[in-house]
Amino acid sequence: MTVRIAVAGANGRMGKILIEAVHLSDTAELTVATVRAGSSLLGVDAGELAGIGKVGLLTCDDLSTQCDTFDVLIDFTLPEATLANAQLCAANGKGMVIGTTGFSASQKEALLAYQKTIGLCLASNFSTGVNLCFKLLDVAARVLGDDVDIEVYEAHHRHKLDAPSGTALSMGEVLAKATGRDLDQVAVYGREGQTGARDRKTIGFATVRGGDIVGDHTVSFLADGERVEITHKATSRMAFARGAVRAAQWLTGQPAGLFDMQDVLNLQ
Ligand code: NAP
Repeated sequence: MTVRIAVAGANGRMGKILIEAVHLSDTAELTVATVRAGSSLLGVDAGELAGIGKVGLLTCDDLSTQCDTFDVLIDFTLPEATLANAQLCAANGKGMVIGTTGFSASQKEALLAYQKTIGLCLASNFSTGVNLCFKLLDVAARVLGDDVDIEVYEAHHRHKLDAPSGTALSMGEVLAKATGRDLDQVAVYGREGQTGARDRKTIGFATVRGGDIVGDHTVSFLADGERVEITHKATSRMAFARGAVRAAQWLTGQPAGLFDMQDVLNLQ
C-alpha cells in the first residue's frame, strides 16, 4: 500500500532531505509539503526546494486545508510548530512521525496526550544505526554496570539549537534504566572548575558544536585497565529521513498509541 505523506517544514535541513527520501521511496507518495505561514517559499515546487528537480507538488502554508490528502505527517520542525500540527492531526485522525527535539517537559506532556487519539511515532533519532546502538548500550550497561564510569559525548553542526542532543539524552535514558538509576538524579551536563572526584553513579554528558557535523555520538564505559566505546557517526541526514519514511509506512498499520523507532525495527 502506498502511504500518502505530508512533510512539515519543507525548507528545513531535514524537511528537504525528507522530500527527497519520500520521492525515492516506491511505497510512499509526497502529497503535502508545508512552509511557515506567509513564507516567501509558499507555492514553490517542493522538489525544486529540495534540490531534486520538479516533483509537481507546490508548498502550502496551511496544513488544515490539506487533511484529506495525506495519511501521515512527518514533522521535523520546532516544538511549537509540532504541537500545533499534533492538535490538527489528532482532530483529523492522522498519524504523526515526529523527529523534532528540544521539547520542554510541559510541551512533551501536551504532545504525548495525543497518543490516545492517533498513532505517534516519536524518536530523537530515526537512523537504524543509532537505534541498534541503543540496544548495544543496554547490553553493555547491564554487563558493566557499576564497575565503570559512563560518559556520553555528542557533536553536531553549528546551527543546532538544543543541547545535549535528543539522541544523547535518549542514550542517557537507556543507560540509566539499564543500571537502575534515575537520569534526572545522576546526569552531569558539562564540568567546570573544582568539580571534585567523579561519583561512579553519575552519567556525564559532553557537547561539541561546530562546522557541518551531521551527528556524532560516543558512549564510553571507563574502567581501570580497559574501556569500551560504542560510537555512531551520521554522515548524511538521509539516514534519519529514510528511517522516518519507514516509520510512516509502519505507522499506517498501527492503532492509536505511542511508538518509537525501536518498535518500527522490532528491537524492543
Ligand atoms: P531547521 O533547518 O531549522 O528546520 C526547521 C524547519 O521548521 C524550518 O524550515 C522552519 O521554517 C520550520 N518551522 C519552524 N517553525 C515553523 C512553524 N511554526 N510552521 C511551519 N514551519 C516551521 O532544523 P533541522 O536541522 O531540519 O532540524 C529540525 C528538528 O529536527 C530539530 O529539532 C532537530 O533537532 C531535529 N532532528 C531530529 C532528527 C531525528 O532523527 N529525530 C534528526 C535530525 C534533526 P523556516 O525555514 O521558515 O524557519
